[in-house]
Amino acid sequence: MNVEYRMEEIQLEAFPHIQVQHLTVAYGGHVALDDISIDIPERCITAIIGPSGCGKTTLLKSFNRLIDLQDEVTVKGRILIDGEDIYDPRTDVSALRKKMGLLSQRPQVLPMSIYDNVAYGCRIHGIKSRRTLDKIVERELRSASLWEEVKDRLRSPAARLSIGQQQRLCLARGLAVEPEVILGDEPTSALDPLSAERIERKFLELKKDYAIVLVTHIIRQARRLADYVIFLYLGKLIEHGPADEVLNRPKHAKTRAYLSGHFIEDASP
Ligand code: ADP
Ligand code: MG
Repeated sequence: MNVEYRMEEIQLEAFPHIQVQHLTVAYGGHVALDDISIDIPERCITAIIGPSGCGKTTLLKSFNRLIDLQDEVTVKGRILIDGEDIYDPRTDVSALRKKMGLLSQRPQVLPMSIYDNVAYGCRIHGIKSRRTLDKIVERELRSASLWEEVKDRLRSPAARLSIGQQQRLCLARGLAVEPEVILGDEPTSALDPLSAERIERKFLELKKDYAIVLVTHIIRQARRLADYVIFLYLGKLIEHGPADEVLNRPKHAKTRAYLSGHFIEDASP
């Protein structure tokens, strides 16, 4: 291993990509996230785990400010991405969302062709050349492991694809605008096992180039994919750290209870 490479590793550890500082998010009077502080490292998969309603989606949507679209939401604290506060009033929210691609629970294909779905974001960002778009569409469909299945019907409506194919198409569409971070909100939960496995495999490949933050309630999935784990419970950050530590040697009793499946999903603290 050469010295340069080692230097790079050290830097990656020293400069986390996403820094959350005292983040509190409330819907009306209901506090969904309570004073969360955490650093999310680059080029690895971070899994956010915890029982339903604990604030996983809220945390994920805070990262690209989709949370702003909810009624009566208040956000306190800071989220720094590459050192910049994304809640600063001067932040360009559309540039932020381009940087932070979101893959939601159910694939949301646009009512247009397979080709146009992938080209959509690029066209918005001003790419017009047909040849460039053709190249991007092929590259991203290959990258999402969908090219072989759709290359002969790029002009047919995306809605005709199976749900598993649609989710891979959404991944291709997200990757086409060259995000820096991929946010996944239980992105395999609507998929059959084979399609889910394909998305999982893709994530493992993509982590070489992106930070991936993945909400999952499937502990086995966190074990398969995560390098780093964040455990939330009732809006509070209970425990976080390298996946092996949190999943195999949790420090907190609540984490142990959750992982062992003996978790009572009630509202008591
Ligand atoms: P999770 O993804 O872990 O299931 P969420 O982040 O969706 O949790 O929700 C956290 C808490 O915030 C829950 O109690 C939920 O009911 C509440 N909540 C989520 N979205 C809204 C909203 N738009 N308005 C009011 N309360 C909400
Ligand atoms: Mg959720």
